[in-house]
Amino acid sequence: MVQTMLAEERRTEERSAYAIAIRQLEAAAYYLNLDRSLLEVLKHPRRELIVHFPVKMDDGSIRVFTGYRVHHNPARGPAKGGIRYHPEVTLDETRALAMWMTWKCAVVNIPYSGAKGGVVCDPKRLSIHELENLTRRYITEISIMVGPESDIPAPDIGTNPQVMAWIMDTYSMHKGYTVPAVVTGKPVAIGGSEGRLEATGRGVTVVAHEAAKLRGFQLDGARVVIQGFGNVGSATAKLMHQAGAKVIAISDARGGIYNPNGLDIPNLLHCAGRDGCIQAYRDADQITNKELLELPCDILVPAAVHGVITSENAHNVRAKVIVEAANGPLTPDADRILQDNGVLVVPDILANAGGVVVSYFEWVQDLQAFFWEEEEVNARLEKVMRRSFEHVRQVAEKNKVDLRMGAYIIGVQRVAEATTIRGIYP
Ligand code: NAD
Repeated sequence: MVQTMLAEERRTEERSAYAIAIRQLEAAAYYLNLDRSLLEVLKHPRRELIVHFPVKMDDGSIRVFTGYRVHHNPARGPAKGGIRYHPEVTLDETRALAMWMTWKCAVVNIPYSGAKGGVVCDPKRLSIHELENLTRRYITEISIMVGPESDIPAPDIGTNPQVMAWIMDTYSMHKGYTVPAVVTGKPVAIGGSEGRLEATGRGVTVVAHEAAKLRGFQLDGARVVIQGFGNVGSATAKLMHQAGAKVIAISDARGGIYNPNGLDIPNLLHCAGRDGCIQAYRDADQITNKELLELPCDILVPAAVHGVITSENAHNVRAKVIVEAANGPLTPDADRILQDNGVLVVPDILANAGGVVVSYFEWVQDLQAFFWEEEEVNARLEKVMRRSFEHVRQVAEKNKVDLRMGAYIIGVQRVAEATTIRGIYP
């Protein structure tokens, strides 16, 4: 009876991304011997805004949507974080994602604090016009938080450079002049950065390369499985393929495809972004997302949504290395099981930081109105990712912990230090 209750409690916790984020923070606080009152400060988001707003639909009707924007700890700089359009967006998830952004920015040592936003909607069921109306109204509703010095949004699930362009335009219309630095992930034509579109996937590829070396194999020739074929999944597939890896399976929300001899990635990239693109691919077997996660491979890259590997399926994972391109794809219980099974996990707050690193470069370029060549952006990104991976590896080794805890120790320590040095106002 007690065991059933505990198991149920665990399952409930596994469903709450914020509960997981708190558990991870508490574990890092233990290693850092963090003061309890400071831990209490770090556990809480600083600001949470919930908005319910009307949008004119194409058929003349008006629909009310719900959106969120959360700032976590402000100690290290302006708030930075993506905007997610997805039917399952919740305040709980947005809080967790904002907290993870704080640690992520600290791990790669860029001067931001964490934020996240989202709207509960299915962007695939909205026309382009409805999507624009929704974006312009949502950004107006949360404008009390957003600005180039206070909070700089970016793309996430369900949003893209066009959505970022509408955000930049809406904010600029209200100001009366153009403010490119208010948002990152914009098209290059309006102040976006070269290299931003592929930045998260490029960072994932760099750390996959380092993790493979640590496990004693090369990325060149490695068998790679990727869940998700959106911005991050498709860029990762492209860059891993270019690095000589064999991408043997890939999926989107509808399901996946598998060919042990490797998929024709250039061909798949050709139709990327089109609904049903993956399913239309002929030279592979159709598989479910569940089956995809359990395929034998060298590197597994979850690049879709959170909580896909849990205590229920972690035992069946047969990868040597997992690179968390998505935010929070593993629950803490799954993490423990995988560690016991000798799987090397590169944690999200390190693995997918490439996106925010180049977002930071974009912001710097916008503020200076001086733009860099793509080679320069990529070279600087790769340097930051390699340096951060090595730092995390060393801290993990020194403390005899896994890479996730190594990354948390660095991130939480930097934020705790900044919070302490600034002091508590008044
Ligand atoms: P996206 O919307 O471009 O793509 C998401 C992909 O996941 C799509 O292929 C979609 O079909 C698939 N998907 C959605 N629900 C799924 C499900 N239940 N099972 C399997 N597949 C599913 O989003 P994205 O920008 O590529 O983001 C993917 C992940 O990477 C998210 O966790 C996001 O938070 C994280 N991330 C993104 C960035 C970025 O720069 N875009 C940066 C850091 C982290």
